[in-house]
Amino acid sequence: MPQLMTVGEILVEMMADQVGQTFLSPGCIHGPYPSGAPAIMIDQAARMGADCGIVACVGADDFGRMNIQRLEADGVVTRGIVTKADETTGVAFVGYAADGSRGFIFHFAHAAAGSLKPEEVDETLLDDVKIFHVMGCSLSASQSLREAVLRAARLAKEKGALVSFDPNIRPELLKLEAVRRVFAQMLEECDILLTGRKELIDITGMEADAAIEKYAGKNKYALVIKDGSHGARILAGGKDERIPSYSVAEVDPTGAGDCFDGAFLASLLEGKTLREAARIGNAAGALSVTRRGPMEGAHYREEVLEFMGNNEKIQ
Ligand code: ATP
Ligand code: MG
Repeated sequence: MPQLMTVGEILVEMMADQVGQTFLSPGCIHGPYPSGAPAIMIDQAARMGADCGIVACVGADDFGRMNIQRLEADGVVTRGIVTKADETTGVAFVGYAADGSRGFIFHFAHAAAGSLKPEEVDETLLDDVKIFHVMGCSLSASQSLREAVLRAARLAKEKGALVSFDPNIRPELLKLEAVRRVFAQMLEECDILLTGRKELIDITGMEADAAIEKYAGKNKYALVIKDGSHGARILAGGKDERIPSYSVAEVDPTGAGDCFDGAFLASLLEGKTLREAARIGNAAGALSVTRRGPMEGAHYREEVLEFMGNNEKIQ
């Protein structure tokens, strides 16, 4: 039975070919790639060897089948994935502005991904859960998916699990004013908060230092601030540690944060310290940006450990 569980969206991702390619004109697109932030996170955790499961909804189409096959191949428990004959699997299109920043067009809220209802969550999958992970994007698309995620998180917490939360803000899904309102409860109640610095400012409406002080407080197991090529910072138990990143040639940043989360949480389940788990998360995040495709960057445990060994001097 899964020790790490998530409820959220499964999507396919279609990616613009080049930096500077937006969707204002036709162009070459790569894909479909298996995707959805919770799915990427759980796939990376499974590749690290954790017992993982996901509850989500797909259509009875090849996009859905491709995702299920990929997750099963990596050992993720997929029996909680609901396939609906009258829906189509959600799609995310990713374009790149001239400065490399990403823009998304989502077919999500009104696709299978957004249609999951609270009563469709197989609660038996939560029996042995130790960590339940929530992605903010899963709270941002449709009310029924949001309720499904929040109900499962509450049940997991009642069973003694830690709840981890990555806001993973996608303004294309939900405007910032609404994000603050919708994320407020999870922000307060989660045990582990995995966030970007800018995201923390955005979801709290506070100055960064004040927000860090507040959410690194006693009611949290850990606050983890992810900072792209600068690595991560961990605040827990009164300690504040910066964990340096690994140097890699970035091909595609999509999925780095999700891979960090998956490797970090899988390492905590193995009994690693927060610091060691963050080093492993950094390695998984760095490796993920070396490949095009959101889930394609998830590496296997042996590859992550070998990469860390080869780069020991930098750490
Ligand atoms: P987003 O939600 O915008 O995709 P995120 O805030 O969840 O991003 P990032 O901070 O972008 O996540 O990346 C997560 C982790 O991956 C970083 O903390 C870092 O360890 C690693 N990482 C990301 N980009 C790079 C890079 N260019 N070089 C090395 N490591 C990277
Ligand atoms: Mg993220």
